[in-house]
Amino acid sequence: MNKIKMTNPIVEIDGDEMTRVIWDGIKEELIKPFIELNTKYYDLSLKNRDLTNDKVTVEAALATKKYKVAVKCATITPNAQRVQEYELKEMWKSPNGTIRAILDGTVFRKPIVVKGIEPFVRTWKKPITIARHAYGDIYKDVELIADGAGEAYLSFLSSSGKEEKILVHKFQGKGVLLGMHNLDSSIESFARSCFSYALEVKEDLWFGTKDTISKKYDHHFKDLFQEIFDKEYKEKFSDAGIEYFYTLIDDIVARVIRSEGGMIWACKNYDGDVMSDMVASAFGSLAMMTSVLVSPDGYYEYEAAHGTVTKHYYQHLKGAKTSTNSMATIFAWSGALRKRGQMDNNRELEEFADKLESAAIRTIEEGFMTKDLGLMSTLKNVTILETFEFLNAIKKNLYT
Ligand code: NAP
Ligand code: MG
Repeated sequence: MNKIKMTNPIVEIDGDEMTRVIWDGIKEELIKPFIELNTKYYDLSLKNRDLTNDKVTVEAALATKKYKVAVKCATITPNAQRVQEYELKEMWKSPNGTIRAILDGTVFRKPIVVKGIEPFVRTWKKPITIARHAYGDIYKDVELIADGAGEAYLSFLSSSGKEEKILVHKFQGKGVLLGMHNLDSSIESFARSCFSYALEVKEDLWFGTKDTISKKYDHHFKDLFQEIFDKEYKEKFSDAGIEYFYTLIDDIVARVIRSEGGMIWACKNYDGDVMSDMVASAFGSLAMMTSVLVSPDGYYEYEAAHGTVTKHYYQHLKGAKTSTNSMATIFAWSGALRKRGQMDNNRELEEFADKLESAAIRTIEEGFMTKDLGLMSTLKNVTILETFEFLNAIKKNLYT
């Protein structure tokens, strides 16, 4: 069989623990037999991040800017316990945070929908994609405990020397305070990423904030989205037969639950954090959630939404059998290969990505799946497979 050739490389970002084990399995079993794989490899295992003083993470992000398409394995974000476990020089920052800060973009999360794994919400027929803004709000806040009576102000001293000051609250006793911000540049690139992605996948875009209560902060998000839409995207949306729809976040939540899915739901940072876990769980399993970071400059980084599945890895190290679901990681690879194919006009590569995804979906729909799905499947005949048995079952389907 002639292997498919790649003109340009994809950036391959390896990671940690069980997902690193799966990573190798996917490459060896499902990709290399069919493709002359061309990647620029970056090892983001915690050990190597420590060895390189985390330079490797920055290098991987810069390579993503250069080659435009990356696929990333889950990585450990170290905490105090990991610092001990890996005898780290430092508690290195979250690699995803570092990469996101360099690429600047929006994270789109979409569940893989298969027959036999039914969403908990009966009306949902099509996947719902969450687009999460990845900058600011409470993730870059400052907080303060007011330890008694006093006055709190919000003030802005502009570089030109002008000062604006408003009273937050006159405290009669103890209380708490929080200050947060966002940037027009970041909100605008969030909006453009959402509009572009909606056009690319031809799905409606919904956006909701609490603008009735937050008349300046949230309203600003609403206004910037609308301005950019009217100026740059309105016609393109109407040509593509899709809609941009803004309403209050409460209303969006109610409508999403009653909908049949199939839309992109743009969320401010905190809303996206919370709602993506809700949507992932309601669709069945975290192991079926795909994730792609889309930068406004047209860089794409694909990954699974779940972590490194530590518990399974420790079992694996003890020589015990594991049943870890590789679907989201496989879809990260197929997503990156498809995007590479689209950018390079490589039809064969695009078609392979489609084939890989349908072989994986068919495997589950024929009743062969890992334990996480087996326990919730509504299919009559279910066979629960171990990690590598599942990869092999998909491989068999890839040949037929
Ligand atoms: P996790 O790796 O997502 O796993 C949590 C639990 O969810 C697992 O113990 C397992 O449940 C289930 N699960 C998740 N993915 C699965 C899969 N593919 N197949 C089967 N079951 C799956 O989250 P965590 O244990 O909280 O975090 C582990 C490490 O991952 C942490 O060091 C964290 O920093 C890192 N992390 C990385 C990323 C990223 O790189 N994007 C994201 C999140 C977390 P059972 O044990 O019940 O089977
Ligand atoms: Mg969260």
